[in-house]
Amino acid sequence: MNATVNANEARKIRLVMQLRQSGIQDIEILNAIERVPREHFIPEAMSDQAYEDIAVPIGLGQTISQPMVVASMIEALELTDRHKVLEVGTGTGYQACVLAKLARRVYTIERHRPLWGIAEANFKELQMRNITTLCGDGMKGWPKIHGIEQAPFDRIIVAAAAREKPPTLLLEQLNIGGIMIIPVGEAGSQMVKRYKREADDTYSIQDIMPVRFVPLLPDIARDKPTSEEKERVPA
Ligand code: SAH
Repeated sequence: MNATVNANEARKIRLVMQLRQSGIQDIEILNAIERVPREHFIPEAMSDQAYEDIAVPIGLGQTISQPMVVASMIEALELTDRHKVLEVGTGTGYQACVLAKLARRVYTIERHRPLWGIAEANFKELQMRNITTLCGDGMKGWPKIHGIEQAPFDRIIVAAAAREKPPTLLLEQLNIGGIMIIPVGEAGSQMVKRYKREADDTYSIQDIMPVRFVPLLPDIARDKPTSEEKERVPA
């Protein structure tokens, strides 16, 4: 083991203790976070920040989510190893890996092709066999591919903020009894919300925590971030 690996191990243990002290009670989630090497998902120049409890830029105006936010959102998801999960906003794949340690299978969609490529490479390198990826618009949900339908999902987690409400097509891909966790609101006043599908057209809604997320945007992205994306990147 070299010095960097040792330093990262020590930082990782400190981070997990910090998450516990900040109120994350689910041991399975803390274990999953301990088992995912976050430095793999961060540009090399910033890998010394891998185990700080902060969001870090990953290019194209996007960020890797803050560990405390990942842990809190997954806790609110009430995940078990029987669940089929849809994640919208793969980024470089960090949260998908944490989800994959806890769920049966994870489907994840990213609209920036270069990030999707990085995530794919990360999943391969870490030998994650229960993650299926797609470069596309997650606001439309998971599409039928070669005639195969994956929806409905037991759980849906969205890693970018919807302006006013969750996209209808996503709500429709939730199983009855299923839970969706999604940040909603304009930059500066976003709230993570929990939608539980109680019946065909009945959803109960609960506020979880205030957050700062990049915006949920439609369509596959062009190569460069739009001015809106640049403006709305969290500090
Ligand atoms: N899950 C990531 C978070 C990445 S930030 C992690 O663990 O670090 C959120 C990501 O959502 C960005 O990469 C952004 O490009 C993506 N995104 C925004 N709108 C999207 C959409 N409609 N479909 C798919 N991805 C989207």
